[in-house]
Amino acid sequence: MNLSFHVAGFTVKVVHSMVHDGNMSAKFGDPFSSEANRRRFLGLNTNMTDKTIARMQAEQGNVVMGVEQLTDTVYACDGLVTDRTNQIMELNSGDYPSIIIFSTKYHLLAHIHAGRRTLDAGIIAQAILKLQLRCPRLTFYPQEFQAIITPGICPQCYHFPGDYYEEHLKAKWPNVEPNAAGRFPIDLRGRIQRELQAFGMTKIMTWGGCNVCQMAMFSHLRGQTDRTRYGRHLVAAWLEE
Ligand SMILES: [Zn+2]
Repeated sequence: MNLSFHVAGFTVKVVHSMVHDGNMSAKFGDPFSSEANRRRFLGLNTNMTDKTIARMQAEQGNVVMGVEQLTDTVYACDGLVTDRTNQIMELNSGDYPSIIIFSTKYHLLAHIHAGRRTLDAGIIAQAILKLQLRCPRLTFYPQEFQAIITPGICPQCYHFPGDYYEEHLKAKWPNVEPNAAGRFPIDLRGRIQRELQAFGMTKIMTWGGCNVCQMAMFSHLRGQTDRTRYGRHLVAAWLEE
């Protein structure tokens, strides 16, 4: 699946792989074929490409790093920000969504791994701070940025028993009502939307559905009981002229 936004002479690209695109995990399955699948999916199947890849190695924290010049590098962090065109920022996602934040005015793009732990660690505030530091200081308005929330696990698929909820989740996820089975559902994409809105962002698009419910997408959760589905999504975003 892919999304393209053409604004003011440049393009924002966001892509999300499906099962039929092949496994793209650096961790599960054959590493050589997964690397070839990545490059094919990203359109980099020749050596003549002008694009480079910054790869996030998710750490489940709140570190957001800047990609200052075109580079093929692995970053140990959960968020990347760049103003460079042709710099792909990619993530091997399990079941958590990504957030892509971009501004046509400032020619800026962020890719954030938005899981339960990274949200709890304040990854959205960190990413917005990183974006702000790259804007003229007195003219930073978050409402000038747009956000895309990519496919991710839904509350019907993501729930916890009551004792776990009370002990580990309630402080950061208050007021969750149990479902019919007595389990406590966690709504990641709903919380992301509320947090972005609290920063004044209004142009927020939720893209695609739940990768666990929808068999056409890879799922880490489904993969635990069905090892033939061991793969991972590739989620990537970049700016083009
Ligand atoms: Zn679901």
